[in-house]
Amino acid sequence: MVKKKQNPLTIDYRKCLIENRLQQVRNTTFADHPDLVNVWTVDIDPRDSHSLINFIKDIQADEPVSFQHIKRIRKNSHSGLTAIICSHEMLQTEEDFLRLLKDAEFEYENTSGRFQVPRLGPSTKELSSEWSEKYWPLVWRGNPNDQILNDYVFDMGLIKRILQRISELTAAQHEKDPLITPAVSAFVNPLNKRVIYTVDGRHQGSPLDHSIMLGIKEVARQEQQRRDCGTEDPTQSDDPDTYLCLDFDVYTSHEPCSMCAMALIHSRIKRCIFLKSMACTGCLTPASGDGYCMHNNRNLNSSYEVFQWTGNEFIVPHIDPHTCC
Ligand SMILES: [Zn+2]
Repeated sequence: MVKKKQNPLTIDYRKCLIENRLQQVRNTTFADHPDLVNVWTVDIDPRDSHSLINFIKDIQADEPVSFQHIKRIRKNSHSGLTAIICSHEMLQTEEDFLRLLKDAEFEYENTSGRFQVPRLGPSTKELSSEWSEKYWPLVWRGNPNDQILNDYVFDMGLIKRILQRISELTAAQHEKDPLITPAVSAFVNPLNKRVIYTVDGRHQGSPLDHSIMLGIKEVARQEQQRRDCGTEDPTQSDDPDTYLCLDFDVYTSHEPCSMCAMALIHSRIKRCIFLKSMACTGCLTPASGDGYCMHNNRNLNSSYEVFQWTGNEFIVPHIDPHTCC
């Protein structure tokens, strides 16, 4: 995590734009509707707060929810304090919670408090005050998306090289036969930075052979081959195993359709960068298709980052907006 001022990238936090080229794509519809998390709480005597804080520090490593925007302790109506110990995502049952408390070196009561807290802080100070009243006291640290933008790491040189190659491949595809869907994708393995390019294969194979589906298949095929027979290239022999497309960066010429966007969720990629949005069939931007924003939908248990390249350096052929990519 770098401080905003020390970030080597130019970030427009208001427009969510990086290096004046990469537009963050996310579903803002629900950004200011809290995603609530159930928490386990206890009531304690104020004199025990020091001991309680040490107890929380000791279990913090197992906590999947970040409570950085939450005040862990609040005053309660009977002159004591109520403290959040952990989330229900860390301990699912009250039995587990009570077992954890057996190690506590402080007196406590009322372990069945039913509190919910927002998983992320809101984007404005006014909403932060409102949610503090409604749910649980929050700490205002600025718009959480600013920190998210600030924490992203980009290799702009690599990104440009890959998008340039994608642009060239789409042009070649289009030139070969204008009836072929000129969509191209690139999959970058985070472990060795090797890039796999795939072109749409519907004209010669299955109607499901979108460039992203073929990319996912090709990653799996190469990994299987590597495990089955080793590799003849000694520089590659020490590669660690790849699990699906875990933490891959995926680049694609046209905004993915719902099938491909969902397949990328299942493949556990880290990031998708695309060039051209697809007004009718796209499944990532709020303005495309039915605005589902597959990559950061709260109903799914996984997500990935998405950016659209907004410069006009990398031209790709037009595809009918009703065609899935
Ligand atoms: Zn597709």
